[in-house]
Amino acid sequence: MAVTSSSMLLRNFSTVGRVAQSVRVTSRIFFSTGELIRVLPYTRSSRSICSTRAAHNEEAAAKAAASVADTGAPTIFDKIIAKEIPSDIVYEDENVLAFRDINPQAPVHVLVIPKLRDGLTTLGNAEPRHVEVLGQLLHASKIVAEKEGILDGFRVVINNGVEACQSVYHLHLHVLGGRQMKWPPG
Ligand code: AMP
Repeated sequence: MAVTSSSMLLRNFSTVGRVAQSVRVTSRIFFSTGELIRVLPYTRSSRSICSTRAAHNEEAAAKAAASVADTGAPTIFDKIIAKEIPSDIVYEDENVLAFRDINPQAPVHVLVIPKLRDGLTTLGNAEPRHVEVLGQLLHASKIVAEKEGILDGFRVVINNGVEACQSVYHLHLHVLGGRQMKWPPG
């Protein structure tokens, strides 16, 4: 989400499967310091979020990834958690891993993920049992912002579903900062 910031050109879909399935929830959720939490349900106008030229690649990537959205297929993040592929880890605890995005959209762009996915392919799949880990993810985002020196101004984004250009189906929060953010995002 950030969303220009969400225009990620480089994707690694090496673990993406092929089972077609629809995505039930498509929305973008933004948390920015200094403002109320905003939840943008899908509307026609929210399509413009993905309307830049660069975002066309992201849309294509998101559509490809949607085929495994809720299948529980492993993602590239499983390999990162297992340390089978390298990542630039910023923060880690028992439940959460935070590492730099491979295609940063801001001077600071860190992904915060639960180590145990437990059905959280998307935020839209959250259940009451996930409340604790969802809180841990937000708290870890704050720790990341603090460690990165952007506590005074940063954005936390969750892309949810293909129309929000989600491309990896393991819940992740984008922590973005180090530059002036725009609103509305584009
Ligand atoms: P989303 O579009 O919200 O699903 O975000 C997925 C993010 O994962 C994108 O910003 C990608 O750049 C990022 N990403 C994909 N593969 C890797 C990787 N191996 N290491 C770090 N970030 C990655």
